[in-house]
Amino acid sequence: MKKFRKAVFQMITNEYVTFTIGKKKNIALIAHDNEKPKLIQWCKDNYDILKNHNLYGTGTTSRLIADKAGLCIKGYNSGPLGGDQQIGAKIVEGVIDFIVFFSDPLTAQPHDPDVKALMRIAQVYDIPMAVNKATADFMIKSIYMDTEYDHEVINFNKNVEDRAESM
Ligand code: PGA
Repeated sequence: MKKFRKAVFQMITNEYVTFTIGKKKNIALIAHDNEKPKLIQWCKDNYDILKNHNLYGTGTTSRLIADKAGLCIKGYNSGPLGGDQQIGAKIVEGVIDFIVFFSDPLTAQPHDPDVKALMRIAQVYDIPMAVNKATADFMIKSIYMDTEYDHEVINFNKNVEDRAESM
């Protein structure tokens, strides 16, 4: 009860609130077409770790990961049809808390604004996000993969209150 009251007080007064990324991560896996083989291989290489977490992905990426790496993964729409936006919305809702996104830096994407929006919202919510294999390797081997991780996220309740008051 005391903990709950403290959390409510924090939600009303503080600029930032503490969120916890659980021991079991909620991982979004996404790859642009040219990068899909690399992500599938990375999933195979890290199968024993990934199988212990909840996996989500954009449509085509998740289908390939399920078929070729044998991992259980929830698929959203294909990226160009709104899948990146769905994953962004899940970050805002607190459902997804970890992203591995092998984006293609050399090819123009029709849904570039959606990709940028996803990266931006991941920054806003302080979500760990790898955009290439080396970062993904460092993240997946991090000590935080086996523990809870507390991080500070902007207090959206206070933010709305302050903005409404200033208008
Ligand atoms: P896809 O979408 O997994 O459906 O190919 C990924 C993307 O292009 O963002």
